[in-house]
Order: sequence, then C-alpha cells, then structure tokens
Amino acid sequence: MTQTAPQFDISSSSPTGTVSGPAADPQLDLWRNLPIAQQPSWHGTEEYEQAVAELGSLPPLVFAGEVDVLRERLAAAAEGKAFLLQGGDCAETFAGATADKISARIKTILQMAVVLTYGASMPVIKMGRMAGQFAKPRSSDVETRDGVTLPAFRGDIVNGYEFTEESRRHDPKRMVQAYHTAASTLNLIRAFTQGGFADLRSVHQWNQGFMANPAHSKYDDLAGEIDRAVSFMAACGADFEALKRTEFFAAHEALLLDYERALTRTDSRTGLPYDTSAHFLWIGERTRQLDAAHVDFLSRVRNPIGVKLGPTTTGDDAIALINKLDPNREPGRLTFITRMGAGNIREKLPAIVEAVQREGAKVVWVTDPMHGNTVTSQNGYKTRRFDDVMDEVAGFFEVHNSLGSVAGGLHVEMTGDDVAECLGGSDPIREDQFDALYESVCDPRLNHRQSLEMAFLVADSLAH
Ligand code: PEP
Ligand code: MN
Repeated sequence: MTQTAPQFDISSSSPTGTVSGPAADPQLDLWRNLPIAQQPSWHGTEEYEQAVAELGSLPPLVFAGEVDVLRERLAAAAEGKAFLLQGGDCAETFAGATADKISARIKTILQMAVVLTYGASMPVIKMGRMAGQFAKPRSSDVETRDGVTLPAFRGDIVNGYEFTEESRRHDPKRMVQAYHTAASTLNLIRAFTQGGFADLRSVHQWNQGFMANPAHSKYDDLAGEIDRAVSFMAACGADFEALKRTEFFAAHEALLLDYERALTRTDSRTGLPYDTSAHFLWIGERTRQLDAAHVDFLSRVRNPIGVKLGPTTTGDDAIALINKLDPNREPGRLTFITRMGAGNIREKLPAIVEAVQREGAKVVWVTDPMHGNTVTSQNGYKTRRFDDVMDEVAGFFEVHNSLGSVAGGLHVEMTGDDVAECLGGSDPIREDQFDALYESVCDPRLNHRQSLEMAFLVADSLAH
C-alpha cells in the first residue's frame, strides 16, 4: 500500500482534514514490540492482512478538529468549569445497533445531562460509550459450559457471543463490520444531536415521564426547579433554536490495537496523528501497564486519553502514567477514571489524588462507580446494587471535596431500555426479573429509570 506524505498546506488537504491511509509515523508501531495483553489470535493470516488493509482505506470516523474541541472541553472539566457524563453499554453489539436502541440511549444521556446541567450550573460534556465499544478484556481466555471449553467472548469486534466453535473463532473481518456499525451509529448520533431532536424543551418533556412515576416523587422539588428554570428561560425569550443542537462525543476502550492503529490518521492541518475511531479513547484497568503496548500507543496520538484506575493503583503509578501520557501537561489531555468499589474509594482514592496534587499535574477526575461493585446474584447473574453504585459516587465527591480537587465527571454503564440487570433503585429491580429482562452480553447496565435517578442524585451533590 502506498502512503501519502503528510501535507501541511490546508488548501491541499482533504475535506476530512486527514491525510488518507493510516499515519506513516514508525513510532506508531513501536507497541508491536512490547508486551500486549488481551489481544485476539489472528495475526499472520491472509484474512487479517486484508481486514487491516481495508480498514486503512476507509475514511476517518471522527475529525481531528472535533477531537481538539473535546480536549478544550475536558480542560474546562479539569478546572471545575464543566462536568463530563460518559455513558453507554459495557459491550455494544452489532445486533444492538438499531435505531430504537441507539436513540433510547442518546435520549437517556441527554435527559441525564439536563438534570446534571441544572445541578452543576455548568455545561455538561456528553459522551457515549458508543460507536466503537465492541472489544472486551476478559479474565479468562476460555469459557466452559457443560463440559465444553471454547474461546471466551471478546466482544463483537473479535468473535460472536453464541457458544459454538464457529462463532467463538477470532475473525478479523469483524473489525471491518465494527467500523461500519460504528459509522452508522455515529450517523444517528449526529442526526439526533444536530437535527433538532435534542431540543432542550423536548428533553425536559421526556423527564416529565420519569417524574410521573410515583416512585420518583422524592425528586419532585428538583424537577420542579428545573421546570421553572426552563419556563423562566422561555419567558426571557431565550434562543431555544440554538438549544436544539448539542455536542456529543464518541468514546470507547482502545483495547484492540489493530483497529486503533488502522484508523490512526495524520491531520492535514498539523501533521500530527489522531486516532479517528473516536474522539476519546481510554485504557482499561487490565491494560494500563506502563511499559506495555496500550500505554505506548495511546501516548502517541493526539486524542484526549482516559485511564481506568482500580483499587491497587498507587500514587506512583498515577504519576508514571501522567509522565508517559501527558508529559507536556496539556490541559484536557488526560482523564483518570477511578473504579475503586464503594468499600474502597474513601480509603484508596486520597493517596492517588494527593500524589497528583504534589506533582502539580492536572487531570480530569471521573468516577466509574460500576466496575468496582460487581457481584453475582443468588440466581447466578453478574449484577450491581444501585445503592453500592451511588455510595461510590458519594465517596468520590467526599474525597474530592475534602482534598480541594475537582470531581469532574461520571462514567456509567447504562442503557435507554427497560432492562433488569442492576438491582434496586426507587422503582426497584429484583433478581427474579433477570431471567426475563437481562440482556447485556457483558456487564450489567443501569436501566433507563436507574440512570435518570442517578442523575437526580448526582445533581443534588453537585448543587450542595
Ligand atoms: C469496562 O469499562 O467495561 C471495563 C472493562 O472496565 P475496567 O477496565 O475498568 O475493568
Ligand atoms: Mn464493563
């Protein structure tokens, strides 16, 4: 494949702002010589080469200019002048990329954002775990059912969920299907958020549906305040036309480096590499080793980067990650997504925050209250209790408030659908609903009502 040399002259750049084909910089391939965890076994095959070449010839999914805007927004979140809301499936599936499911998820995120915007009195940066959240790290390479052992499901971008030998085969053609599924998901996201669907008044109206449920009457006061605020804006002649559109960013775990590398392109304005598979990429708790492939690769792209930090993280680990991923201390570049567990956060988070403060570094501190709170239900489902999730969120605010650091955002596994995967909430989900209503192929998500309830509770913490 021929590589186009980077072009710096904007007049000769492509309309997408990126030079076509994967970025040529050899440093973007240094990860190939480093230890790498959680990857499929498909290398060296003809179909792998073909899939990577095809991905490399396809257009970027996001533009470098949008990625730069997001970095500025995150810089504001690091300063306490914006709040980040990241939400979506644990694992998106190809079959789940339907108009109904995607729009329900976007609607729920927008509904949560309105409540949070009111509570925080600041802009909420809306971001989906969407349009690329197809690759999953697994604790075991294999899964055994009824005496049959097959490769574990690693997300639709690698293999199928169905428990058969054919479906569980690592198939590189799935990367191309993931790209097209991400493209159609992004197309809907752009249409919904730019085409008038996100009108503040409609989003507010949808929240009235949630409030109509008597189980949520404890949020009447806050909902009433928001209602009066919207009426006040209307009475003042606020330009609701401008509020019909909203920014919405796409994010996923950058786990499958074959996919990320093929979509990394040179920005024709600056000559720098951007991973155009999403605006924001994060490194998972299982792949954040300092001298390994994921940290190396992500250190070399311009996108804002997140790192998940679990309860074993030390202050020194955090500093080493900052030095590697954000050596220039660029505002908005680095987000730490802590996922400690409700029982750990008050004890473990302070040392990490204090180390970062001593270093004089600034990151966006985000809480993922899901991954440290996973339990197995009596009837054998992977689940989380709403109260544990909210307790971790409360601990996150307590720690940051006491240390004078900024609680900058929330990262949740949620859906817009009426599923039963997490236990509890004011209109409670019970274990006996799992058989009929548990849909996730990976981790349990908050359903529509639980997600909105979380937004009301967090809005309250932000307001007080
Ligand atoms: C996830 O976000 O789905 C995930 C696997 O998280 P973590 O890396 O924090 O375990
Ligand atoms: Mn998950």
